[in-house]
Amino acid sequence: MPYVYDDQNIFAKILRGEIPNDTVLETEHTLAFNDIAPQAPIHVLVIPKGPYVCYDHFALEASDAEIADFNRVVGQICQMKGLQPGEGGAGFRLISNAGKDAVQEVPHLHVHILAGRNLGRMLGKA
Ligand code: 5GP
Repeated sequence: MPYVYDDQNIFAKILRGEIPNDTVLETEHTLAFNDIAPQAPIHVLVIPKGPYVCYDHFALEASDAEIADFNRVVGQICQMKGLQPGEGGAGFRLISNAGKDAVQEVPHLHVHILAGRNLGRMLGKA
């Protein structure tokens, strides 16, 4: 089944400037902003500006430039926030929920960058 993008989702509205956001970094293809309901001291969402529903959609159909830019922004946020384990930071967790089993709430690809406390083991019980 083809991916169907709903342009009324909340992140599409943020990208169109219809809803404010607390921007951390913006590039040609990518926007990073603080989550409205942070689940850790650092909780940044990174989204592509293009209309991609979820991670697999983006990985399969985005251009090389979009994919490179998106991943560079993730790295740059980790650098800006001092999170890089290889540079003495305490680390971070990346999460990208896709679809109903992952309980994806907003149908526009986003990666959560979570950090600033011990995040525990990877998965809790459903
Ligand atoms: P999901 O469950 O889809 O992976 O995560 C959606 C995330 O978007 C949640 O962490 C939620 O707090 C965040 N979120 C939902 N609406 C808004 C909004 O209007 N602004 C911001 N900054 N974050 C939002």
